[in-house]
Amino acid sequence: MPRRRAGKSAVAAAKPALVRVAREDHPISRSQLTKGTLNTLYGLKDAGYQAYVVGGGVRDLLAGKAPKDFDIATDARPEQVRKIFRSCRTIGRRFVICHVRWGREVSEVTTFRGALTAANARDDTGRILDDNDYGTLESDAFRRDFTVNALYYDIRDFAIVDYVGGLADMRAQVIRLIGDPETRYREDPVRMLRAVRIANKLRFEIESATAAAIAPLAHLLREIPPARLFDEVIKLLQSVDGVANLQGLHDYGLLKHLLPGVDAAFRDAQALAFINRALANTAERIGNEQSVNPAFLYAALLWPAVQKTFAQLVADELHPNVAIHQAADVVLAKVQPHVVIPKRFSVQMREIWMLQLRLEQMPRTARARRVLSHPRFRAAYDFLLLRVAIGELPQALGNAWTRAHHQHVATVDVSGDGVETDDAADDFPAESVDEVTSAPRKRRRRGGRNRRRSAPPAAE
Ligand code: ATP
Ligand code: MG
Repeated sequence: MPRRRAGKSAVAAAKPALVRVAREDHPISRSQLTKGTLNTLYGLKDAGYQAYVVGGGVRDLLAGKAPKDFDIATDARPEQVRKIFRSCRTIGRRFVICHVRWGREVSEVTTFRGALTAANARDDTGRILDDNDYGTLESDAFRRDFTVNALYYDIRDFAIVDYVGGLADMRAQVIRLIGDPETRYREDPVRMLRAVRIANKLRFEIESATAAAIAPLAHLLREIPPARLFDEVIKLLQSVDGVANLQGLHDYGLLKHLLPGVDAAFRDAQALAFINRALANTAERIGNEQSVNPAFLYAALLWPAVQKTFAQLVADELHPNVAIHQAADVVLAKVQPHVVIPKRFSVQMREIWMLQLRLEQMPRTARARRVLSHPRFRAAYDFLLLRVAIGELPQALGNAWTRAHHQHVATVDVSGDGVETDDAADDFPAESVDEVTSAPRKRRRRGGRNRRRSAPPAAE
């Protein structure tokens, strides 16, 4: 009876046999973990608790990639974790996470989650609202999103524990949701974004049922708090895989619910070229361990939309200086219901856009060159160069500003009261730098307000 057999195998696929791979049969070694991670694992173990590395840390090590961080799972309750580590702080209300600090390093520790039941409150789209139950290693494994994210490295004997078929999926190079895709996406629609991001990071395929459920449920992203989506967009696009992630978001029908104004760029070759150039530029900076700023990235993503609105307003005979502000208002107001951009970033984005009007003029007059002293000049100039790179503006304009900028920097250097660095993020206030991709920061001194202006105009 083919039907019944199909039913049986579906059950079997949902709950594969527990696999335990001994230390000598897998490639992960303790030396690949950070010091803080080891301290936390041994602190928990020595206090008599279970302690595992789980998630991206195990997954990325198995895939031969450098993990971003090592998440730790334990049977110790948050209050018990707090008793072991004096530096422990708890965060989160719905589900408590412990942050254990070791110098500059922070270990994130979560207590095993319990199985979800019909009793857990959900909203009418299926999204989980209450999530407070603790459980066992096994229940925790089934609460995770993808099979490859539910592999546990046991600090007791260095074995890898797999309840969900994650090791087989690592070998097959597929991203597969644990359980029924529709239910799991409804519980937390951000998993759709995570599927795209993790597949591109590992160069894995999204398994067919996991992939097929995305487009019909993409609209559920609208239920997610817009502040959470700001962070998710940054993880996707401020990344070495930014170009592939943007394409993936579009292909799966996610982008139109996330950033409709950016999705529109897929119908306009020049707009898409500009955004992809900005993403590639960001990826290159991350690759070179240079810092990157969310304001620059968001300014680039929304630039084509700003330009379009600006052109309409100018055609309606608004003065360009007024039109650029109004265009920024319109575009930012359209984004906020989907993705909330914190004010400290939107202020910088407006400045970058506004300065484009001034940088579209050749730096011929002293008045035009005044922009060189603007605190946001460096970012706006980098932005201008992206526009030049895609052929939106003439190369001669970019060259002229490059010369003017170099002259200005040399003048400031000679005067000895300030040193510019080559780092675009230096134009951003310190608070935003905490949120950029961490990278060693160059030492710099800031010139005061009275920095000398640049000498004669740059020749073209
Ligand atoms: P990376 O750290 O490279 O971004 P990651 O998979 O480790 O990837 P984290 O956000 O650090 O991502 O999450 C750690 C682990 O927590 C995941 O691997 C997964 O097991 C679990 N997890 C994270 N987000 C979800 C979610 N939305 N639903 C279910 N499990 C999740
Ligand atoms: Mg992680």
